[in-house]
Amino acid sequence: MQNIYNKKFESIGIPPKKLATQFEKLGERRFRAKQVMKWIYSRNILDFEQMTDLPTELRLWLTENGKITLPETVEVARSDDGSAKFLFRLDDGKLVESVYIPDKNRDRNTICVSSQVGCKFDCAFCATGKMGFSRNLSSTEIIGQIYIVRQYIAQGGKNLTNIVFMGMGEPLDNLDAVVDSIEVLNVDAGFGIGHRKILVSTVGIPEQIEKLMNSDIKPKLAISLNAPNNRLRSKIMPINKKYPIEKLIPLVQKYFKYSKRWVTFEYVMFAGINDSLKFADELVRLIKDLPIKVNLIPFNEIDGFDFKRPDDRIVMRFQSYLLANSLVVTIRQSKGRKIAGACGQLAGKEVLNSR
Ligand code: SF4
Repeated sequence: MQNIYNKKFESIGIPPKKLATQFEKLGERRFRAKQVMKWIYSRNILDFEQMTDLPTELRLWLTENGKITLPETVEVARSDDGSAKFLFRLDDGKLVESVYIPDKNRDRNTICVSSQVGCKFDCAFCATGKMGFSRNLSSTEIIGQIYIVRQYIAQGGKNLTNIVFMGMGEPLDNLDAVVDSIEVLNVDAGFGIGHRKILVSTVGIPEQIEKLMNSDIKPKLAISLNAPNNRLRSKIMPINKKYPIEKLIPLVQKYFKYSKRWVTFEYVMFAGINDSLKFADELVRLIKDLPIKVNLIPFNEIDGFDFKRPDDRIVMRFQSYLLANSLVVTIRQSKGRKIAGACGQLAGKEVLNSR
């Protein structure tokens, strides 16, 4: 067999149809893709020689010409509550991070994964945004993070149940790789995780949400709102000047029709900035009767940032007001505060510190 690719044949993080086509171009049967995926994702075998249902010639060829690339684990910081932060080094030395978030009460084990090195969007409260943008991750690099954290979860006798694209970067700004990754996560020969257990969190980029709706995948969608009016939102999130709130609202309806799932509005709460009942009331008026859940996220304080975390009483008061007005509202549990466990905030901080 000739290596027509002029580079090593990457076998991890490639969606099934693409991998099958790549095998086909080598003169192999398409189902080889499924076989290799099962070895990698179900049996945790990363050595082509051990993939015994492949023909000997293909095994030898893959051993010489193939690769299964995983990022290097630089550090694992564990928190008392069971959450863990992983710092990974990619092939070109760039650093990204994933966070494992267990939830015993709901029997849920979530990985928060990065989709870019840095970020273009410069949200005022986010350390990743302060780093600027470096590059997109490939689907191999996204899946590699999940693969390693899943092994860690398995060592504790647990199963990975949920994925959130909420780490470093804006996932919809790297849509192709994110869609490819979700395919790998979703198919049985991959991780076998249902779309409703995969959440993509975005600042709200209308054309990218439209593109997502043109793909076959239907993950849950969360839009980082953080303010109920354009004046405040533009101060916190510069992207709002380009895509103000009124452009996002119709998309919520549309995404609901597409996915049959309510969209989440994330509302990071900052003391004295967006946590008063006046803002709660504005929020009620903005989204009442829409298929939207609100997730309140008390800010995890970061050194060098002026934003403060509101008092728990204030957060509860805000939630009560929304509940009293018939909204569906949750408060995100603060996992891993000691390791600065909020996705995005944490990754940026680590990378800034490592400079
Ligand atoms: S919050 Fe998300 S979109 Fe905003 S700067 Fe941070 S990583 Fe980028």
